[in-house]
Amino acid sequence: MPNDLELPPITVTAAETVVHDLERALEAHRTWLRRFMATLVCRTRPRPADLSERSHLKDEFGHWYYQDSNDYLRPHPDFVAVGRHHQEMHAASRRLAAIVADGGRITPARFRAFQRSIQRFRDRVGALIDEAQKLLRYTDPLTGISTRFAMLPKLEQERERMARSSEPCCVGMVDLDHFKAVNDTHGHNAGDVVLREVARYLLKNVRQYDQICRYGGEEFLMLLPGTDPSRAKYVLDRLRRGLKRRRIDIGNGKAISVSASFGIAALDPEQSVTVAIDHADQAMYAAKKAGRNRVRIWAGDDRQA
Ligand code: GH3
Ligand code: MG
Ligand code: MG
Repeated sequence: MPNDLELPPITVTAAETVVHDLERALEAHRTWLRRFMATLVCRTRPRPADLSERSHLKDEFGHWYYQDSNDYLRPHPDFVAVGRHHQEMHAASRRLAAIVADGGRITPARFRAFQRSIQRFRDRVGALIDEAQKLLRYTDPLTGISTRFAMLPKLEQERERMARSSEPCCVGMVDLDHFKAVNDTHGHNAGDVVLREVARYLLKNVRQYDQICRYGGEEFLMLLPGTDPSRAKYVLDRLRRGLKRRRIDIGNGKAISVSASFGIAALDPEQSVTVAIDHADQAMYAAKKAGRNRVRIWAGDDRQA
């Protein structure tokens, strides 16, 4: 998932609908195919819908595709391709239905062409389902930013890059201060609004090549390539101050501000990225202990207070 400055246009709810709809539509296609194969094998009279020039509009998949499908999907190139393959498959099935209706013989070549058209159609639908499922896994439903599953491969890439170059790289752990009190005082919905706004704020204010994900409930993980710990502290201190100054509109004419504690650790090309995440987490806890609303750099196992 690219770390766009704008949040992704598709909501995860939309992706959930897409997966659900496509799976149902695929099942409807299987039902149609079973019936159609029975027509071919038993040489019963084809249904008028299967002989029609508009047969692709008349099965359940066609109904869904042309009338009920999700607005998000319509301009998607894979969705357009699915429609084309569906239409081609119906053109091939129509030719077979016409032969059966005339009492003719279906050649193996024609039948293979029909089978290939089915496979192309199914492959395209499968690709769309995969894409929507990936989106579900890689996009946090509440904030619309990346999940840790999207972030971990990027961390790994940076670690490998570090091993080849001498460039430093840091990870930053961000945890909102006394966030439970926000929920307790203003309600869970207000808490959700705050989380969305904090995510938006962080995403908008990191540098273009930095990455950010929602790591847990009210925790965010940042990746700061080309940055040593003292530079990272400078960057995150700026973010910290900006966040604290921000008034977040939580509805009903109320606005609140929140602060966060930040922990920084350098990625080590010799160690797993989870070690750096753990160190950043420890540094973040040290920032909490020191009074919150501050940035701490990991200082080593025995020195981290
Ligand atoms: P600290 O300064 O020590 O971090 O205190 P805290 O209250 O932020 O920490 P704690 O871990 O006790 O509470 C985190 C809270 O975050 C508790 C949980 O209900 C809330 N939270 C986690 N995920 C969500 C969410 O998706 N929406 C809302 N509204 N709250 C969430
Ligand atoms: Mg927490
Ligand atoms: Mg917290």
